[in-house]
Amino acid sequence: MESRCFATLVTNDAYVDGAATLAHSLRGCVSVVVLVPPNALSQASLAVLYRAFDRVVYVPLWSNTRNAAQLALLGRPELHITYSKLFVFSAEVMHPFNVVAFIDADAFALDPVHATGIFQHLHDGASFAAAADVGWPDIFNSGVFVCRPSNALFEALKWEADYGSGSFDGGDQGLLNRFFRSWAGFHQDEPHEVPLDGSVDSRPPKPHCPQELKRTARLPFTFNVTPSAVYSYLPAVKEFQSNMSIVHFAGHDKPWTQARFTDGTVWNRNMSSEIANLHNMWWKIRDHLTETWKQEDQEQNKSA
Ligand code: UDP
Ligand code: MN
Repeated sequence: MESRCFATLVTNDAYVDGAATLAHSLRGCVSVVVLVPPNALSQASLAVLYRAFDRVVYVPLWSNTRNAAQLALLGRPELHITYSKLFVFSAEVMHPFNVVAFIDADAFALDPVHATGIFQHLHDGASFAAAADVGWPDIFNSGVFVCRPSNALFEALKWEADYGSGSFDGGDQGLLNRFFRSWAGFHQDEPHEVPLDGSVDSRPPKPHCPQELKRTARLPFTFNVTPSAVYSYLPAVKEFQSNMSIVHFAGHDKPWTQARFTDGTVWNRNMSSEIANLHNMWWKIRDHLTETWKQEDQEQNKSA
């Protein structure tokens, strides 16, 4: 029996507004879970998360200390902590859920019912599904993915992170793309694991991960639409607009860091009107959440 949930990650106060807005955009259909490291957030932030999510799950902060150079190349040194999202692969952590749709905290669903369509794309034999990254289409973007948590899969990923080839970009995306190589149609064959120079391999033994656990599926891009696609291919955005389910603000410009006019619309001279429109949609959900909580509080105060 499938038990599904949506999950996101918040490692610091800066992403709380994003996560709460995402949760509000998804509400009603499937449980919404947030992963947080212990002692990383203020009490006020935790209160917001407990209110916005069905469950708050504590996971250790998992920081990638091996690939600082790659993160510098990406221009995002702060993303060393995104390995923490890999805990969604752990069956133990995600119990009782056995199918998880992970969504970055800088994303929102245009419609919660459409967004649940994401689960249909993890077909029976697959453990993982993701959509193409616009920067390099043979790479999937790991801001949105669906997976079946499994301790064997989690242990294998952990080994790859700590002792294997690690991440090519320093974040979870560079690790997951090396791990789920079949996604782009590459051979699943792994690179030579024994040191070629004859030196002693002092690493712990590699955990066994059955090949069938590495089977992947492709998510339509409509489940992970990034603003850069809007820059590069406006006719496609118009063509697929009615199917768009999840918008993901990958990159530096997050909606909650944008200045707004007094009427609430976003102002940024470097932004096209189409992208400003996506930011305005995020703010509409954000404002709706603020208003809903205000009304709930007023009613509670009245009855108290
Ligand atoms: N994240 C976080 N705190 C940080 C950075 C990242 O909680 O300081 C989490 C959050 O869920 C975020 C995800 O990790 O959405 C990935 O980071 P981000 O979305 O900024 O990366 P991008 O999508 O821009 O590559
Ligand atoms: Mn993101």
